Amino acid sequence: MPVETRDRTPQQPDPKQVGRGFLYLLLYLLLFNWIVLPLLRPGPKETAYSQFLAQVEAGEVERAQIQADKIRYSLKPDEAAAEPSDATSDAASDADAEAAEDEIYTTTPVPGNFDLVEFLVDNGVAFEAPPPDRFGWLGTLLSWVAPPLIFVGLWVWLLGRAQGGASAALTVGKSKARIYAEGDTGVTFDDVAGVDEAKTELQEIIEFLKHPDKYTRIGAVIPKGVLLIGPPGTGKTLMARAVAGEAGVPFFSISGAEFIELFVGVGAARVRDLFRQAKQQAPCIVFIDELDALGKARRNAGSLAGGNDEQEQTLNQLLTEMDGFEPNAGVIIVAATNRPEVLDPALRRPGRFDRQVVVDRPDKLGRKSILQVHASKIQLAEDVDLDKIAARTPGFAGADLANLINEAALLAARQDHDRVHMADLSEAIERVVAGLERKSRVLNPEEKRVVAYHEVGHAIIGSIMPGANKVEKISIVPRGVGALGYTLQLPEEDRFLMAEDELRGRIATLLGGRSAEETVFQKVSTGASDDIQKVTDLAERMVTLYGMETKLGPVAFERVQQQFLEGWQNARRPISPEVSAVIDQAVQTIVEGAHTVALSILAENRALLEEMAQHLLEQEVLEGEPLRAFLGRVAAPSGLQSWLTEGKLTDQMA
Ligand code: ADP
Ligand code: MG
Ligand code: ZN
Repeated sequence: MPVETRDRTPQQPDPKQVGRGFLYLLLYLLLFNWIVLPLLRPGPKETAYSQFLAQVEAGEVERAQIQADKIRYSLKPDEAAAEPSDATSDAASDADAEAAEDEIYTTTPVPGNFDLVEFLVDNGVAFEAPPPDRFGWLGTLLSWVAPPLIFVGLWVWLLGRAQGGASAALTVGKSKARIYAEGDTGVTFDDVAGVDEAKTELQEIIEFLKHPDKYTRIGAVIPKGVLLIGPPGTGKTLMARAVAGEAGVPFFSISGAEFIELFVGVGAARVRDLFRQAKQQAPCIVFIDELDALGKARRNAGSLAGGNDEQEQTLNQLLTEMDGFEPNAGVIIVAATNRPEVLDPALRRPGRFDRQVVVDRPDKLGRKSILQVHASKIQLAEDVDLDKIAARTPGFAGADLANLINEAALLAARQDHDRVHMADLSEAIERVVAGLERKSRVLNPEEKRVVAYHEVGHAIIGSIMPGANKVEKISIVPRGVGALGYTLQLPEEDRFLMAEDELRGRIATLLGGRSAEETVFQKVSTGASDDIQKVTDLAERMVTLYGMETKLGPVAFERVQQQFLEGWQNARRPISPEVSAVIDQAVQTIVEGAHTVALSILAENRALLEEMAQHLLEQEVLEGEPLRAFLGRVAAPSGLQSWLTEGKLTDQMA
């Protein structure tokens, strides 16, 4: 981990802290003024007004202070000693008498036209108005200022909570970009494996950052912005940091989402601030992660729903800043996204992110070198063959592979091994593919039978279908979320295309579980719902995306919306009801055909199905040589090939 230094200097206290400190100070003052001070003052004795008048008349009163609605007075010393007023006289002791010497009494005058002043003068009492209160203004001030301050304090506090971080309201414009000082990223190209094309593309940037004069002398202009595009976990962030590490320049990194704030204008101010900092530190790299959060096309702006003003302003500011500095100023902006299709076209214009580097999922060789990078950090046993692991993990991104190695190391550690063995890695792959084993979930015997036949059904059909997927393991130990049993089919090589017959084979295999349940129990369970979901997806794609339905021809009825993210999130193009009916019919035909084929394969291999299911029920897991021996006996029905290639069922199948 690099040491992060926030751009906020220590002398500049956190505004949230200031707000809180101020609140506390305020509370103390209020407490002091309203509670402590009155307690400290000796409480005067309350007497009746009539008694006061009598005491004045008797010449016992020494001094009186006439306030607006109160009279405070003291008695002459000897009178006070002798005068316990209305207090209980029997309790009066010497100590009391002494203490009473400058005892203060108060009384409440009765309003009326009685001339108190004249009365006091006549009786020789010294009297006065109260001296102006030296601290009275404080109370007055507080009573005016405190309530608004309390509200402000509350607001700041709430904001701080809502933002979860420093209160953006008061740090307006301070970018949260972290600065990694030279060499701090600690990442070099050696840490990034399997993405050699991207490395080559970025080499030039590094060269320029190291020796800018080499380029400026000829008058060559280096791209200002590089956009790294690729699925999640392929090492885009890692790559950007490696570029900074290789070039030995400061690295500013900020995530697109951090620009977007509650308040309009804050994001734009942040962009400005970020670039100001960057220009001071040039040459350097500014890395904007998850650019799509900020650079979404301004397509819907101005619509009734209301465009996102804040986002738009931020984006505009970014565009302005990118145009605003000289091409060879030494600031290179690297951004990463996994949704390039949503980016605003303005971002890709020359002079902005005009260089785009695809960081895709690695191929087998790439996976091997990524595995090597991460395996170098752990103790490997001799039996580990990273080549094999790489072969069995197509579709895994760098992050998945790093995770895989770590899972294997954890498994080995749990068993007190001092090295990671091949078995740990195999188990780790299964964990990543199928989820954690859940021995605690106990199936009742009947459910177990259903699951066993279901899984064997998948395996039997999968074993005779075209394509590179080989059935490796069948298990009825529950795993992960919802999987009661599973059939592990791992490919032997990377595939970038799937032929029509492979897709049909895949659909039949997926339906094998449900078909086995039907064959054996003459009824179906809910266990096949996930299979059915996948089947429908695949069949629909064959028709609407891949143009595999002859009646419709090579027409795509879906727009692909996400190129690099998992999940299938497309939008159907506008189509007529007739075409829609044809699509539905075609999907139906594919799925029903596969179902029929699956049923007929299982009927053909009924004895084997029985035998394997029994074996699985006893052993819970079926793999390796025994599994291969079983699957070697699977017989293919005669019409299978023609269905796979043409989608037509022969008479004996239907
Ligand atoms: P992205 O930004 O593309 O989503 P990251 O760069 O955050 O992916 O990758 C996450 C982690 O996965 C990295 O920290 C690294 O450990 C591992 N990783 C990803 N790609 C690679 C790679 N090509 N070589 C080595 N490790 C990788
Ligand atoms: Mg990333
Ligand atoms: Zn299934």
